[in-house]
Amino acid sequence: MQEKENIQRLEELVTRFITLVSKRLPDDVSGKLSELQSRETNPMAQAIYQTMFDNIELALALDRPVCQDTGVLQFFLRAGTGFPYLGAMETVLRNAVRDATVQAPLRHNAVETFDEFNTGDNTGRRVPWVDWEVVPGDSGLSMDVYMAGGGCTLPGTAKVLMPSAGYEGIVDYVLDAIVSYGVNACPPLLVGVGIATSVDTAAVLSKKALMRKIGSRNPNAKAAKLEALLTDGINRLGIGPQGLSGDSSVMGVHVEHAARHPSAIGVAINVGCWAHRRGSIRFAKDLSYEILTHKGVAL
Ligand code: SF4
Repeated sequence: MQEKENIQRLEELVTRFITLVSKRLPDDVSGKLSELQSRETNPMAQAIYQTMFDNIELALALDRPVCQDTGVLQFFLRAGTGFPYLGAMETVLRNAVRDATVQAPLRHNAVETFDEFNTGDNTGRRVPWVDWEVVPGDSGLSMDVYMAGGGCTLPGTAKVLMPSAGYEGIVDYVLDAIVSYGVNACPPLLVGVGIATSVDTAAVLSKKALMRKIGSRNPNAKAAKLEALLTDGINRLGIGPQGLSGDSSVMGVHVEHAARHPSAIGVAINVGCWAHRRGSIRFAKDLSYEILTHKGVAL
């Protein structure tokens, strides 16, 4: 009985957390937008940033999502083997997405592939998408919630480069993708780059790169240098906020990597928009929680 009540409580907390993430940008994103605005010299770009901050304030004041496109929900779990509700989590997340779709409300964004109908509740085959990492010996569960709209999903791309392409090939590939499609994603962008062997492994890493706190650096010094160089290079393109030109085009570039086959360089790109709605929360096994991305907020 107690377990059933606890699972219900967990479902309610996740519902409220999804709703929060849809309406309030995480602290690091708001902070970065503010920083970019303060050093922007282009008057048009300044006006766009001001519109973004008006949007952020109005979303809170009117209790509405910060962007109408609330995306397809993805969850990235780092699950302790001692967390008591592991077996219930997929159902908890699915029910929470359904409830948040009504409570927030969220736009209906899940269309069944081939059958071509909108499920109307943001769930469907393999949606919400759930990525699991198991943490041995931990009794808690950490979770990133992410909602990416269609526009910021569009620049996503992956390819396996010949090893002779080298790191220059990665830079070319990233810059080409951002030049071609970055403007679709409502800049300033957060660019996630995954480097591994195959397109699938690189793609997962590129999405996980978007879960990192803005301003964090890859612990590998060479990867961190690549992040800095790509940030500088994309900013120099002059895309600016909403693609209307400006001093900054990105909030950051994050690179995540894995060891790779010597004959292949898998590279993938995922992009977040200015309304980068991700939230990170950690549950203890007694269901007390800590929200890591939105300080001072209680569910
Ligand atoms: S790219 Fe982001 S801000 Fe632009 S419409 Fe899509 S979700 Fe909204």
